[in-house]
Amino acid sequence: MSKPVICDHCHTIIKSKDELVTSVSLFEVLAYHEHCYIKELKGVQAFYVSRTPINGFSYNLSVGISIIFAIGWGLFADGQTKWLAFLVIFPIYFRLYSYFVYERHLAK
Ligand SMILES: [Zn+2]
Repeated sequence: MSKPVICDHCHTIIKSKDELVTSVSLFEVLAYHEHCYIKELKGVQAFYVSRTPINGFSYNLSVGISIIFAIGWGLFADGQTKWLAFLVIFPIYFRLYSYFVYERHLAK
């Protein structure tokens, strides 16, 4: 049996990928039920929780664009600013973390 995914808001088990929303809060990837994520955005934590879910199409798109931008930056920027291309590691890390820690344990 795979590891249960627990909602960070209501502390109950998330049963399917359709319910799951993952988000970044202070460099930590958290899992929520979709309705809990909406409550969390309206609550006290709203300042810390990212407004873009990680496991959504728009985040995947922004990661893709970030990778292209980082490759372009690495090729065309001058020597001293080339290291900025490594900043793209954060969104890629968050996306992979969300997949391996939460999404792969849930049924579709
Ligand atoms: Zn919940």
